[in-house]
Formats: sequence, C-alpha cells, structure tokens
Amino acid sequence: MHRLFTLLLLALSGAAWADGGPVVVLDPGHGGPKTGAVSTSGEREKEIALEIARKLKAELEKASVRVLLTRESDKDVELKERIRLANDAGADLFVSIHLNSMPKRYWNRVRGIETYFLSMEATGERAQQVAALENAEAGEQAAPTDDLAFILNDLAQTQAHRDASRLAYTVHQQLIADLKASDRGVHQAPFIVLMGAQMPAILAEVGFLSHSAEAKQLREEAHQEKIAGSLARGIVTFLEKVGGRDHALEVKGEGGESEVDALTESPSAR
Ligand SMILES: [Zn+2]
Repeated sequence: MHRLFTLLLLALSGAAWADGGPVVVLDPGHGGPKTGAVSTSGEREKEIALEIARKLKAELEKASVRVLLTRESDKDVELKERIRLANDAGADLFVSIHLNSMPKRYWNRVRGIETYFLSMEATGERAQQVAALENAEAGEQAAPTDDLAFILNDLAQTQAHRDASRLAYTVHQQLIADLKASDRGVHQAPFIVLMGAQMPAILAEVGFLSHSAEAKQLREEAHQEKIAGSLARGIVTFLEKVGGRDHALEVKGEGGESEVDALTESPSAR
C-alpha cells in the first residue's frame, strides 16, 4: 500500500528528476511537400504523425520529461537534420513517428503496429521495404553503409544502439497491449533518420493508412490520444529503467525508504 501511495503522489506531483530531467526528441515523419503515406480517403501521414507527436509531448511533459520536436509545423526537415538536432540537444531518446502503408494488393488486408531500430541489414523483405519507403525522401543524400560503419566505430553510438533494441521492445509491447493492435513485430532496417544517433533511437509505425478501417481510426483524435498515451508509458518505463542511469528520480519520502525503487518496481513501470 505504501508503494501505491508513493505512486499516487508521483502521479499527482509529476516525478522530479534529479538534474532537470531527461530530454526526448520526437520526430513527426515527413512534412511540407513530403506527405508520406496517404490513405484512399485522403488521410496524410505527415499530419497524423504531427498530431500524435504533439499529444505525446503533452503526455511526457506531465511526467516531467523535457521534449523537443524536430518539426512543430508542416515543414520539410531533412532526415539527417532531424537526428543532428537530437545529437546537438544531447537528447536521451529519439522517437520517430510514422504511419505505414502497403502495396495495393495488400490494402485492407494488413493492419497493426511495427517498431524499428537501426541496423545495416534489414531483418526481412518487409523491413527493407519500409526503410526504402521512409528513406525515399532523402533522394541522393543517402549513403547508408558509410554512415553505419561510422556508427560502429563510435563507442557512445554502440551503447546507444544496444539500448535502442530495448527501447523498441519496451515501446512496442506497450503499444500492442494498450491498443489491442495486431502485433507485426519489432524489426531492424537501415533508416537514414536513425543513423548517427548518439542516443537510443527508434521508429514507430503506429498503424496502416493503406487499411481503410485503420486509416479512419487513425484520423480520430481519441485514437491519436490513445497512441500518444501508450507511447508515453513505454518511453517513461524505458527512462526509469535505462535512462535512470543518468537521471535518477529525486523524491523525498517519509521513513527513508527508497522511493526510486518503489517507482521502478511498480506495475505501471513494467
Ligand atoms: Zn513515414
């Protein structure tokens, strides 16, 4: 009961992080002339991704997490510029938000959530397709393998890359549980937007615009809020476990018991 009480207090006051708190960079995919995926009824990836990112920012700020967006409006930001912004900000995490689509013969047959982190080799044909789609807007600037060779030579990036896998699984499992969505798995692929990240970086494909029922749902504000809430829970869970190395929670409790333990062991922090 004591733990429950502590959690309640934290929820009411917002957790206090010792040093100002972790910084999360959210990256709404595409923007400006680059619309990303478009559903048959006209829902556009760039707009829904931005809406979800805004809602997620608000959710994370409730947990005293500092949040930066790679774009706050409908503007075109280069893929490499997005991760550069996160590196320059010394961000603890980078989460790129996208909506998926399938080739025409699979429309209305495939729905659900896929989560990705970076690797040189895609983990399958589908992962390769998704990376190709998301990388397409980079045009000629892409030099994936060179960038990856660079990553593997940098110790900080190697550690970040290792943690990215944990972040991807934490966030993915939370999304599947909360949204009761079809689980299309965690995969790896060479996404330009994740290359060179000095912090754990993932790309979440939170639904399929090529599935008409799912596209309709994705347009609804309530559903966007549900996605944002779930992403926030996954991110905070990860920050408490892994990010906690750098940002210890500072909570004064009665009786000297470690309130940090109480939080990390709580059911909400699975
Ligand atoms: Zn996208």
